[in-house]
Amino acid sequence: MNSIRVRFAPSPTGFMHLGNVRAALMNFLFAKQKKGTFILRIEDTDHERNFDEAKQRIGQDLAWLGLSYTEGPVVGGDFGPYEQSARTPIYQEKLAELIRINRVYRCFCTPEQLDAKRKEQIIASKPPRYDRTCTRYPSHAIKQKLDIAMPFIWRFKINEQEALSIDTLNGNTINFDMDNFTDFAITRSDGSCTFIFVNFVDDWLMQISHVIRGEDHLSNTASQAALYDAFMIPQPTFWHLPIICNSKGEKLSKRDFGFSLTDLRDGGFIPEGINNYLAVMGISIPEEVQSVESLSKMIVFEKINLHGGINYDLEKLTWFNHKWLSKLSPDDFITRAMPYLETHFGHPITLDNGTRQAFALIQPEANTLVEVAKLMEFYLGNPLLDFEKLHQEVPAEKVALVRSVIAGITWQEPALTVLEVYKAAAKGAGLGTKELLVTLRFLLTGNTKGLGVLDLFKLLSSATLQKRLQA
Ligand code: GLU
Repeated sequence: MNSIRVRFAPSPTGFMHLGNVRAALMNFLFAKQKKGTFILRIEDTDHERNFDEAKQRIGQDLAWLGLSYTEGPVVGGDFGPYEQSARTPIYQEKLAELIRINRVYRCFCTPEQLDAKRKEQIIASKPPRYDRTCTRYPSHAIKQKLDIAMPFIWRFKINEQEALSIDTLNGNTINFDMDNFTDFAITRSDGSCTFIFVNFVDDWLMQISHVIRGEDHLSNTASQAALYDAFMIPQPTFWHLPIICNSKGEKLSKRDFGFSLTDLRDGGFIPEGINNYLAVMGISIPEEVQSVESLSKMIVFEKINLHGGINYDLEKLTWFNHKWLSKLSPDDFITRAMPYLETHFGHPITLDNGTRQAFALIQPEANTLVEVAKLMEFYLGNPLLDFEKLHQEVPAEKVALVRSVIAGITWQEPALTVLEVYKAAAKGAGLGTKELLVTLRFLLTGNTKGLGVLDLFKLLSSATLQKRLQA
């Protein structure tokens, strides 16, 4: 282990969304490449919710994704506790330091007053910044307010004359004009500390060397740069990941399928596909299908120069998932697919030789595990026949001709002989091989594409073949 220390710092909101997953992944890959430490820190300072379940979920989700952390809840480490709810005394101590060095002041303005000020500023086309009313009270006035227990928050006093900057991973410097920033809150009116402050304190005390997080945190970074400056401590290096957008270019939201990890897992996506897609999203590497292990070796983090939004492309993700499903060992594939099959068919599935062979046939076809269940219908259920679908490939009159050819032939054993007889008869009737095979495949599986007809004739029982073909 060296001094490279990165962290994934989710707020336990109940579910992981893709932005979280990508932040976790990028931190993990970065730590792996640099032989550094990947830390999980739970940012659970919002007391209003009960986070226990959500916290557990984060651990489970990371484990499912294969992104194991070396320091954090459960596993511990030298810089704990790793849950912010257990770090209150640390934050209060750092707040006391800010009070001592006179970088914070009490603000007694009510939310309503602040809101009114903000509206006035907006109308006057001024940047909405706190107007520092509370810095102008003489000390006896402050004392009076405190005596009547008037609620207040601590605000950090920005130095507008100051030019602050941060260094980014790709070697750039981002300059912030502090004139544009407001005196931000360090505490809430209940005395607890705000996200900007505790997140900074933890990065500092946990000796985080690189802060890798979404670009939506850029303005928080500016405020935090002021905090690093106030405490006279060196900053970490920053990397702000571009926002993930939907196909309309809007920030991805709950309304978009695949926004949450739960959507994807329920939709039959596997961790290998998700990780691979998210890691290469927006960057170009020659051979895109790569394991987490090799991605950690090949990504040149320092050269990535992305900002703004990048589009979430579900089709591309599906393609990666397809590639990874087809790479799984047969046993692994079956194990992962089974729960989806049981949900789909509504009963446990017996894994006999035939079922294994059926799995082997559909493995190269499937895009998702949900699709595996549907594709297995040809073997475990009765495929639904939508002739419209067939007629798009084979004209109705040709389909009728294939069916009359089938009807005119008496079944014999082995079934493979029948296939040969069908072929000869179809040829005699002026049908093309494709017209015959597509129609047979459709009658046997409900799909016009996919499984080989020869394979189907080998796998399905004569009874099933007859029933479906002669229906
Ligand atoms: N809790 C913050 C979030 O989930 C952390 C951001 C950060 O990585 O600093 O957005």
